[in-house]
Amino acid sequence: MSIRLLGTICVDTAIAGILVAGGIMTMQAMNSATAAAVSSAAASAATPDDARRFIEAAEARLLDLNVKASRAEWVHETFITDDTEILSAEADEILKAATSDLAAQSRRFDDVKLPDDVARKFTLLKHAVDIPAPKTPAEQTELSQILASLQSDYGKGKWCPEGENILASSRNPDELRRAWLGWHAVGSPMRKRYERLVILANEGAREMGFADVGAMWRSGYDMSPEAFAAELDRLWQQVRPLYVSLHAYTRTQLAKKYGHAVVSESGPIPADLLGNMWAQQWDNIYPLVAPPNADPGYDLTEILKSKKTDARAMVRYGERFFMSLGFPALPPTFWERSLFTKPADRDVVCHASAWDVDYVDDLRIKMCIEIKAEDFSTIHHELGHNFYQRAYNTQPFFFRDSANDGFHEAIGDTIALSVTPEYLKQIGFIENVPPASADLGLLMRKALEKVAFLPFGLLIDKWRWGAFSGKVAPADYNKAWWELRRQYQGIEAPVARSEADFDPGAKYHVASNTPYARYFLAAILQFQFHRAICRQAGYAGPLHRCSIYNNKEVGARLNKMLAMGKSRPWPEELEALTGEKQMDATAILDYFAPLKKWLDEQNKASGAKIDW
Ligand SMILES: [Zn+2]
Repeated sequence: MSIRLLGTICVDTAIAGILVAGGIMTMQAMNSATAAAVSSAAASAATPDDARRFIEAAEARLLDLNVKASRAEWVHETFITDDTEILSAEADEILKAATSDLAAQSRRFDDVKLPDDVARKFTLLKHAVDIPAPKTPAEQTELSQILASLQSDYGKGKWCPEGENILASSRNPDELRRAWLGWHAVGSPMRKRYERLVILANEGAREMGFADVGAMWRSGYDMSPEAFAAELDRLWQQVRPLYVSLHAYTRTQLAKKYGHAVVSESGPIPADLLGNMWAQQWDNIYPLVAPPNADPGYDLTEILKSKKTDARAMVRYGERFFMSLGFPALPPTFWERSLFTKPADRDVVCHASAWDVDYVDDLRIKMCIEIKAEDFSTIHHELGHNFYQRAYNTQPFFFRDSANDGFHEAIGDTIALSVTPEYLKQIGFIENVPPASADLGLLMRKALEKVAFLPFGLLIDKWRWGAFSGKVAPADYNKAWWELRRQYQGIEAPVARSEADFDPGAKYHVASNTPYARYFLAAILQFQFHRAICRQAGYAGPLHRCSIYNNKEVGARLNKMLAMGKSRPWPEELEALTGEKQMDATAILDYFAPLKKWLDEQNKASGAKIDW
């Protein structure tokens, strides 16, 4: 349903979380229009017309509440005070209560044969709640308190953001371990409450007709829960050879830096050495693994500074990229209402996010832009959300969303993949495109960000699926977590862990109960999109050098998919853009092919063991 791009301190620094509105189930009176539609349906056997009236009333009600909640949240995040926090929490609670209540009410139409579009809306309403509460009021209250307390524990965790900064920049193993342990202590007190949360939320999921919460999450993808799980495994098997090659080379370089007493020759890599608290993206250790003689010969940050580009001008570059594809300019209100720089006089949430406040064209970004290369790329990413949001703004409310939750994140990143040296030359930033030898450096940097992330993106929900289904018993929560970390990422905890710890809770999306498979999908899809549109553009060179800048035909095709919103099953929408009905990780392999070749050569030359 609605898209809220969540900004939270100590969330992923590179990945904005998407939160789907909805959450806990509490009973609250509906507004009279909706209640009337429901009671008329209840009076006798419900008909398809009753169902349509109910779902349309629900859409109108939820649109109104979502807009109100968005406005309150915008004011809160751009002007943090006790009052704005209370106002936004209140608006959010009203929205969640109404969403949950409507989802519960909608079950009376479960046996009515409905037209496709109406049936789809009912499915989306049921999936609007990530953690469904059981019917019993006492249990609802208990679950709601657990959810709030877990999130609050995470927010209050010490070592944040200092711990993150140390993990990013320190090369002292003792200091790294101390910061890693310091932060991971945040999880331990959450364990008992998480265990209880699993029981209560599963009860809610069963009342909604799902086997458990994990099955409910997996069934939000236009296929059976089993088929979705198999899809993720299939995609992972496609990309695994690229990951293990990067892993082996990285392990060799880390061993050179820290010695074999710290980094084993053939085993998993200690989790605190990869430049990130969760070892989920490794770009901070680029200097330790940089291919020699692969400097691109320019520094985008320096170029932006020398051109005296300010924050607003940087956003204009992003807008012009989309306009070069044929998208209309952003509305004047975007420029009036967005927050581009950190205000001097008040606290704001600086984590970059994109907004669609009225679900039509009140588009905004909120970002404390600094004049640097990373932010230049992030701007393209955030604007991807805005142009997507506007493209689907004439769909019914329930369809104003991306095809599946991976698509929304992927679109912005797809455009960012077109910010190539060739593009920088076209906009007058550099005079010459660097030689092919420099590509290895650019590819390595990107692989540390995108390829290193893949197994992490997969295992978070693998662990939760196990916890929710009972396959992982509470007594084994931490053991199962580290088995997955080892199996998929090839990493291990820097010191022995036990069931006194609860390391999953030290990850924001677990503590906040935000589904995670979407980030894995986005990481795969952006390359599939990129390859497809580059082919459509008639581009035949190496994929990492392709930019679709200025290509209006490609833009029109992209817009066609974006405008479909969530109105059709995602394989149909994927086909509309790419001609392919299946997700396909061979595009990411194509993109990194030159790096893979180089990594394999290095691993062979050093005699590095592959795998762990
Ligand atoms: Zn995003």
